[in-house]
Amino acid sequence: MHLKDPKLLRELCFVDGAWAGADNGAVLDVKNPASARKLGSVPNMGAAETRRAIAAAAAALPAWKARTAKERAVIMRRWFDLMVEHQEDLATLMTAEQGKPLAESKVEILYAASFIEWFAEEAKRVYGDVIPGPSDKRILVLRQAVGVVAAITPWNFPAAMITRKAGPALAAGCTLVCKPATQTPFSALAMAELADRAGIPKGVFNVITGNAAAIGGEMTANPTVRKLTFTGSTEVGKTLMAQCAGTVKKLSLELGGNAPFIVFDDADLDAAVQGALASKYRNTGQTCVCANRLLIQAGVYDEFARRLKSAVAQLRVGDGLAGVTDQGPLIDAKAVSKVEEHIADALAKGAGILLGGRRHALGGTFFEPTILTDVTPKMLVAREETFGPVAPLFKFETEAQAVAMANDTEFGLAAYIYTRDLARSWRVSEAVEYGIVGLNTGIISTEVAPFGGVKESGTGREGSKYGILDYTEIKYICVGGVG
Ligand code: NAP
Repeated sequence: MHLKDPKLLRELCFVDGAWAGADNGAVLDVKNPASARKLGSVPNMGAAETRRAIAAAAAALPAWKARTAKERAVIMRRWFDLMVEHQEDLATLMTAEQGKPLAESKVEILYAASFIEWFAEEAKRVYGDVIPGPSDKRILVLRQAVGVVAAITPWNFPAAMITRKAGPALAAGCTLVCKPATQTPFSALAMAELADRAGIPKGVFNVITGNAAAIGGEMTANPTVRKLTFTGSTEVGKTLMAQCAGTVKKLSLELGGNAPFIVFDDADLDAAVQGALASKYRNTGQTCVCANRLLIQAGVYDEFARRLKSAVAQLRVGDGLAGVTDQGPLIDAKAVSKVEEHIADALAKGAGILLGGRRHALGGTFFEPTILTDVTPKMLVAREETFGPVAPLFKFETEAQAVAMANDTEFGLAAYIYTRDLARSWRVSEAVEYGIVGLNTGIISTEVAPFGGVKESGTGREGSKYGILDYTEIKYICVGGVG
């Protein structure tokens, strides 16, 4: 891996404006999933180091929140500019530790930076309210920074899942302690280096790596932390939610999904195929908004399957740093096992393979882009996130059946609908129990929209004007004696 600015590869944590190792010197190795080669190591911190990072964030809080929104915005804008300036290096680091194609990493860096830029601007518009009072009173409503925030993030979007939290948190006047995923810590640490260069004051943005349970345990038990924001699996999200009960923290949870991708008979089939490609195979199928179940109406089922197969067959699988690719490796061997388990279960219960279905000839954790046909709700692929490059095709007859199938899950993050019928667009968009609906599009992520789920996909929204409100508390001032 070659970086133009080698100082962006940091193997220490960033706490209180300084680079630090674990108290006992222990480290965790980080590997490139495309080659299994070691890239470097990061500190294996625990509860004691987490406590110190939280104390640093608490010490930095009064001065940071006392600055005007404009002053915070000027510093954050410099951070944004530095991320854009170093896009190539940040993307190289990301592909090395995460495996996604370099082009996808470059897009993620700009997407990640966009949250810093957008929320820096939005901080100036965190308005309150004046409510006409009863009797001789007036009612004022202020929105104030929540305080110290703890963030825990996953490996599938190593940069964007951090800035979606750091952007609104810092803009609102909060300070942050962030724990990135152990498999992809270098993107987070590079962003900390750039935050430091941008002049973000010490203690405002801290990044610690290490033992997830110990760090998460301290973050959730420590009363100084007023909000926990987590992106990751529903299972871990539930654990953290329970742990936060003891200190009644404000919570944002961006958890797992099981997205239906519904194609009606009247859809533009080429557009639907393009949408399915983007939604299903991007990041090797490892996104929370991935089309997990492709529900295709009977009249176009065969034709959609034929067109999807010819498009998916073109995908170039390989190491994202070794040439132009469309699909990288899966993150680890466990991910490959899950994909294989889902395929074997579907085949045992009567599904067929239209394309792929096996480990890729490249070896390691590379997997063939796969399409399954004749899939039914009884199969594992219908119930769980596959988190891999597998498109299972289900058949439905009526609109009511499609809606019932779409909602038949405990998840509720993203749903996709392809139809050219205006009335049906409204009916189905309103009937599906999801936080996000992609109507005739497979790409729904942008910093200007409220991203988040319902049901067991989580609570809270990231991005947009709603995203910053999650980092504020409402205070109401009752003004008496006005007459
Ligand atoms: P994960 O296993 O839940 O891990 C996510 C983060 O939680 C990592 O930093 C992990 O640390 C940490 N963690 C694990 N166990 C913990 C514990 N007991 N206490 C505190 N922290 C703990 O999820 P993942 O496999 O990395 O990510 C994939 C999941 O994230 C999928 O379900 C996906 O749908 C979801 N996701 C959701 C969104 C969304 O916006 N809704 C976006 C992206 C991903 P270690 O790395 O050290 O284990």
